[in-house]
Amino acid sequence: MTSLLSLDALDVTFTRRGRSKMPVRAVDRVSFDVTEGETVGLIGESGSGKTTIGRAVLGLTPVTGGHITFRGEDITTLRAERRSRFAGSLQAVFQDPYGSLNPARAVGRSLLEPLEAHAGRRSADLSAEITRMLDEVSLPAEAADRYPHAFSGGQRQRLGIARAFAPTPQLVVCDEATSALDVVTQAQILGLLQRLGTETGVAMLFITHNLPLVAYLAQRVVVLYRGRVMERGPARDIHEHPLHPYTKALTLAVPSSNPAVQRARRAERAEAVSVNSANATAPPAQGCPFAPRCPKAADTCVTSRPADTPVGNRVIACHLFDSRSGHPQAPAAKGTT
Ligand code: SF4
Repeated sequence: MTSLLSLDALDVTFTRRGRSKMPVRAVDRVSFDVTEGETVGLIGESGSGKTTIGRAVLGLTPVTGGHITFRGEDITTLRAERRSRFAGSLQAVFQDPYGSLNPARAVGRSLLEPLEAHAGRRSADLSAEITRMLDEVSLPAEAADRYPHAFSGGQRQRLGIARAFAPTPQLVVCDEATSALDVVTQAQILGLLQRLGTETGVAMLFITHNLPLVAYLAQRVVVLYRGRVMERGPARDIHEHPLHPYTKALTLAVPSSNPAVQRARRAERAEAVSVNSANATAPPAQGCPFAPRCPKAADTCVTSRPADTPVGNRVIACHLFDSRSGHPQAPAAKGTT
């Protein structure tokens, strides 16, 4: 499989506003690939750095270290005018589709823009194309003459998706694209994205806090905590059998409509996340960021950064899985037993 997007030790550091001007490392040496036609989920709680990564890929946030390669070209620091060459190939769907729909314009006009700007098409040829795009996202042809306020949230997201897929991109970054929708509409939009991904072969970087949702849509998942990759590998395997202590805690945080299951999850989560979470806002600078909340934390977790360790078809950054880490529960190194 050819790599379409590659992140290599990506760093993004912000400077805090106000008097302290303290640097905040939002993304910390993050590496992963997206291959052609693949959907990769970026998952994590608020503050995990997932949205910052998406914005860095789109050129909306400056990068402070590492590299972003798209179609074999280093785009890490490309200026806006040179990035525009990639604009048609690299599209986005955001949580609030109003951001890509001009409220003062009929939506047909908004759908035309990416075709004219990135695909070099003239508006005179495009009315049939607009009808086709609307049909792709299950909206009637008459929708082209209406304004964004006349649509529901789900319909607006369909328009945002139509606009993103219009210039036949190679990669679409979907940032919390379904988070603001009710459960039924969310399922419809996910079905739509899945169908478009399959039919068009467009790769997607799907950013969300919802692990089951990623397991449904993505082939692979990257689990983030405080700007670092904790675990990455096949989405379904990680959802069904999480190995990293943080991924386990994340899985157990998913609410269930079944009260018995919910009770069991709550009890398991109480064990999976250390009750001593008062230090959770002050993770060790050198060690594992999850150490203040991890019931398996040992001294080495506070003093040394876990290495990316291959475990079967995954990569896990946790001392528990690294025979050289010195963690008392790590497997013994070969030849030492
Ligand atoms: Fe827990 Fe240590 Fe693994 Fe971090 S490295 S998740 S603190 S066991």
